[in-house]
Parts: sequence; C-alpha cells; structure tokens
Amino acid sequence: MDYMIRATAANAQIRAFAVTSRDLVEYAREAHDLTPVATAALGRTMSAALMIADMLKGPQDLLTIRIDGDGPLGGILVTADNQGGVKGYVEHPEAELPNNAMGHLDVGGAVGRGTLTVIRDMGMKDPYVGQTAIQTGEIAEDITYYFAVSEQIPSSVGLGVLVNRSQKKVLQAGGFIVQLMPFAEEETISKLEENLKGIDPVTKMLSAGDTPEQMLEKVLQGLDPVITDKIPTAFRCNCGKERYERALVLLGRDEVQKIVDDGKPVEIRCQFCGKKYTFSTEEMQAVLEKSQKKS
Ligand SMILES: [Zn+2]
Repeated sequence: MDYMIRATAANAQIRAFAVTSRDLVEYAREAHDLTPVATAALGRTMSAALMIADMLKGPQDLLTIRIDGDGPLGGILVTADNQGGVKGYVEHPEAELPNNAMGHLDVGGAVGRGTLTVIRDMGMKDPYVGQTAIQTGEIAEDITYYFAVSEQIPSSVGLGVLVNRSQKKVLQAGGFIVQLMPFAEEETISKLEENLKGIDPVTKMLSAGDTPEQMLEKVLQGLDPVITDKIPTAFRCNCGKERYERALVLLGRDEVQKIVDDGKPVEIRCQFCGKKYTFSTEEMQAVLEKSQKKS
C-alpha cells in the first residue's frame, strides 16, 4: 500500500515528506507500457509531485511538474492533488538507453537538457509558475535546484525507482524531501547535512524494508522528528467519457459532421492514464446536435 507522511523536526526548523509509490508507479508502467528508464523517470517525477502537492493548502489545488528535455524520452508531464492522487505520462514511453557509467538506468541521459516547470494551480485566475534549467535530468537534483533558485528554499530531495529489468516490474519506488525553514539554526543545518551524508540511496533503503517513517528517522536522526500527517497515495485520473464528449463538441459543427459522414467510430485514448473511450456514429450524431457552427 502506497502512502505519504509529513513531518517536522528541530522545533519546526525543518519540514519533511516521504513517500512509498511502488504500486502507483507500477500502475503507470503498465498503463503506458513504459521501458525501465521511462518508468524510473516518470516514477521519480510522480513521487516528487505527490510530496510537493502535499505542501499546497486547498483541497482543489493542483501541482503540475513539466519537464521539457531534449533527450529520447521527450517531455514528462505529471499532475498531483494534495490528497495523494497523481497521474502522468512521458512523451516517448518506448525510449531505451544503455546503462550509465555506474551501471544504473540512465535517467539523466533519457531526459536530456531543457527546462523544469512547476505549476501550482490554486483556483485563482493565474496559476503560480516557476521554471528552472534542468541540471542533471536525474530529477532529484533538478527539483533541489528548482527549490533553491525559484523558491529560495534549501532542500534535499531523494528519489528512487528500482525496476526488475527482465520482468520490467517495479520492485521499489519512493522518496523524501527535506526543507530548511528560513529561521533554521546553524547547528540544525550541520546535523542535517551530516545525516544526509550518511544515508543510503532511496532504493537501497526501500529494498532493505524501510518504510517512509524509517527513511525520515534516518534523515532526521537526532533532530526530534514528529510525524504530523499520513495519507494513502494512488494513481488517479479524473478523465471520463463526458469530458471527451465536451471536447468533441468543441471541435465545431463542420468537423463533427465530417466524422459522422465517415461512419467510423471515434476512439480517444487518455494520455494521462491510457484509458480508451469509443464514440459510435450514433453517439457522434448526438455530439453533432450539441455542437455549433464555427464562424
Ligand atoms: Zn485518464
């Protein structure tokens, strides 16, 4: 069962988040038929998005991470709500690359260089948008850099996805984000830095059976961590046939008439979750009646 926790430490000088996301990353892998490197890239981004979305306040608020890299993966788009729901896709789920020099999945090479954009949609007219340059394409470093440069929040981000390459199955996925508040004292900062130097990579901690609570205990050792929240997390898409019907209506009368005249059913695939929706010619006739002539 995937879930996420939130914690504070050192008398609220530190805030922290940790997540296990194996099931939801496996769901995405299957829905999009992702290669191992695409699974790792999307899984790391979804894990980060869940934790950043947990920083939002309103129940309707949405957090989107868009990574526009020039690597073989193409773009990555992930949207999370602040109730543990996340969805996302990569432009080229079939992208494959040889392992990097360390023998790991080459996520950085698959993403390439470009921009990372974080969009906070808080129901106001204009969403809050921050953008930074991709640093390594390994996602965790890029999120750390984003927080430092765009939001001036010193952060440490650990993300990991472990894929069984022969069966392609996701074995482990998760991560943590730790952030220093502006009033953090020197002593707190150096203790945290010392802890971060000593911990294993996320996939190693998860493989050893560590829970999100145990990951944060290691990261925040000696800093009196207090867990303040725990919520289940899952891959959730809000698509539905009505949404796509509305989109078809917006094509306009002439376009819809052409589809009806063709006499073939229309099949639409949701790019976020891979679900397919079919509109028969009779259903398209109903769409035609709702659509308007475009001038
Ligand atoms: Zn969908």
